[in-house]
Amino acid sequence: MNEMLVKESPVSHAQRIEELGRVIMAYSEVTEKLQQSHDQLKSTVDMLRKELSDKNRQLERRKRLAALGEMAAGLAHEIRNPLGGIQLYASMLSKDVADRPDSQQIVGKISAGVKRLEALVGQVLQFSREIKINVSTMDLAGVVQQAVELTSQQATDANVTVEVNGPESLVIEADPLLLGQTLINLVLNAIEAIEGPGKVLITYVPAKSNADARQCHLTIVDSGPGIPANVLDRIFNPFFTTKDSGTGLGLSIVHRVIEAHDGTITASNVDGGGARFEIRI
Ligand code: ADP
Repeated sequence: MNEMLVKESPVSHAQRIEELGRVIMAYSEVTEKLQQSHDQLKSTVDMLRKELSDKNRQLERRKRLAALGEMAAGLAHEIRNPLGGIQLYASMLSKDVADRPDSQQIVGKISAGVKRLEALVGQVLQFSREIKINVSTMDLAGVVQQAVELTSQQATDANVTVEVNGPESLVIEADPLLLGQTLINLVLNAIEAIEGPGKVLITYVPAKSNADARQCHLTIVDSGPGIPANVLDRIFNPFFTTKDSGTGLGLSIVHRVIEAHDGTITASNVDGGGARFEIRI
């Protein structure tokens, strides 16, 4: 028995070393694979965590907007009823003072004020309503062109040129009416910001596979003064305005329209002044 052990021992020793080598190799392979899947898992967890915090922020914003919308809608309805009465009395008064131009002028001012308030109430109600999009297959090029035409009077009056840069046709799935309104809003804001001769450039491109956008990337850049840093993170908030006669609802509605398309909108400044709005849907 002892003799056998002595004879076998050098062979089994070498075998054992070889085996041990194989075990160590296999072990280090497994360790490497484990490390790789750990790294992958870690980056997936990081990504999910970021996604969750983004979604939480969106949810918080939606909750805040819903509460604000409810309050605004209540107020708008309360204002709307007496407005109808004021308008009715103003038109009755207008007939009574038909032969007195001074009084006519005052009545005219009352009516104009009522109309402005009615427009504001309409905007508040649009803001407070849930935005439902009516998606269809549409040509973005056509909608952009239409928005340019519909703002051409204001552009001419303000001495602003509106240029478009994009393919002749870009078919996407979106709500043409709401997207058109969004563009008009952004172009009018740009024209108002420019004050004097200037330029607005609308660029649209199809989404590249590596871009955040799924369908298209749309940019509106103006040659105005840009957006001050302390204003930049508030411009999409409802009722935020820096204009004397502004409602501060335009951009918050724009934001909700793009969100309803599962898209994003961001505001920034271009080097050398001017604002840039980027939409990705
Ligand atoms: P409003 O036009 O009634 O003020 P908006 O929600 O459309 O409401 O805009 C909010 C604010 O964002 C504006 O008052 C202005 O300060 C700023 N803003 C919007 N567009 C531009 C722009 N193109 N350049 C500079 N500031 C802008």
